[in-house]
Amino acid sequence: MTARIVIEKVPHPAPTPAGERAALMANPGFGKVFSDHMVTVTWTAGKGWHDAKIRAREPFRIDPASAVLHYAQEIFEGLKAYRGADGRVVTFRPEENARRLNRSAERMAMPAVPEELFIDAIEALVRTDAAWIPEGDGSFYLRPFMFATEAFLGVRPANEYVFCVIGSTVGAYFKGGYKTVTVWVSEDYTRAAPGGTGEAKCGGNYASSLVATAEAFENGCDQVVFLDAVERRWIDELGGMNIFFVMDDKTIVTPPLGTILPGITRLSIMKLAAEAGYTVKEEPYGFDQWQADARSGRLREAFACGTAAVIAGIGKVKYRGGEFSIGNSGDGEITTQLRSALVGVQRGTVADKHGWMHEIRLDA
Ligand SMILES: *Cc1c(COP(=O)(O)O)cnc(C)c1O
Repeated sequence: MTARIVIEKVPHPAPTPAGERAALMANPGFGKVFSDHMVTVTWTAGKGWHDAKIRAREPFRIDPASAVLHYAQEIFEGLKAYRGADGRVVTFRPEENARRLNRSAERMAMPAVPEELFIDAIEALVRTDAAWIPEGDGSFYLRPFMFATEAFLGVRPANEYVFCVIGSTVGAYFKGGYKTVTVWVSEDYTRAAPGGTGEAKCGGNYASSLVATAEAFENGCDQVVFLDAVERRWIDELGGMNIFFVMDDKTIVTPPLGTILPGITRLSIMKLAAEAGYTVKEEPYGFDQWQADARSGRLREAFACGTAAVIAGIGKVKYRGGEFSIGNSGDGEITTQLRSALVGVQRGTVADKHGWMHEIRLDA
C-alpha cells in the first residue's frame, strides 16, 4: 500500500479582492473566469507522485523541449461543483472522472493518478476557492489535467509529468431558457478510428477536430457531428458531446462505445431513461437512417450531452448535400424530461437514488 499523498497548502499571497471577484462572477460565460488557486502534483520515474501543493494559480515554467509541446502527451477531465439550494457544495460522480482519467492515462502511456489523490485535489481546490462557486444556475467547473514535462525530443513515453487542477466559474450554459442547436455533419474529417484514441479524453482529439468545428461555424452551425472513420456512415459523436436519438416507439438509441468518448452524462442518461420506462439501445445508427427517420417522423427528438451543456436538443442538421429538421425543431418532450431528471439530481431537487452526488464539506 502506498501512503496517501497530503496536499500542502500554500495560500495565495494576494487573492482577488471580493469586489473584483463579484464583478467577474456576474457574467462569467464559459471557461474565461478562473479562481485564485490550483493544485499541482509532480510525477517522475522512480519517485512517483510527489510535491502535491495547492498554491496560487500562475503560469507554468516549462522547458521548450517539454514532451507535451511536441508529441502532445496530454489528457484532461471536466466536472462541476454546485452550490445546492440547501447550501451544500456537491460534485457529480467524481470517481467516474478519476477512473476515466486513468483509462485515458493508460492509453496515452502516462502514469495513473491514485483515485484518492484525484478526489483530494478536487476537494482541496473547491474548499480553498469556495468563494468562486456561484449561487443559482452557474457552477464551478473543475478541469483536472496531466501533461508530459520531460525535456527530451526522442520519441517514447516521457519520464516526468504534472497533474494539475484549475477551476473556473461558469454561468448557465443556456441563458434565458433552453435552445436547440444546429449541427454540421462532417463528411470530410473524422475524429477517431478503431485502435486510436477516441475513447481517451486527450487534447489531441480536440486538436484534430477543430478544423471540422470551424467548418461547422462557417456553415452556420453550433457543433460538428463526426461519422465513423471506416465506413463514413455511422454516427459517432459531436466534437465534445455524445448523442442520443429518441424514436416514436419510446426507444432511445445511442452509438456504442469503441471510438467515442465514454461520457459520464451519457452513462447517467442511459440509466435515467431506462428507469423512466424507455428502451435504451447502444447500437450503431447510420447517417442515412438518421435522414430517413427524421423525414418519416420515426425520429422524434435528438440531443447532445456532456458536462458543460448537460443536454442540448438538436433542432436542425446540415451537411454538404442539404439539411433536415428534427421534430418541430424545438426542445423535445423526452429531452426535457431527461434533462429535468438529471439536473434535478445534480441540483438536489430530486432524490439521489444512485448515490451520484459527492458532497464537499467546506469546513473539513
Ligand atoms: C468529455 C467529452 C464528452 C462528454 O463527457 P461527460 O463525461 O459527459 O462530460 C463527450 N465527448 C467528448 C469527445 C468529450 O471529450
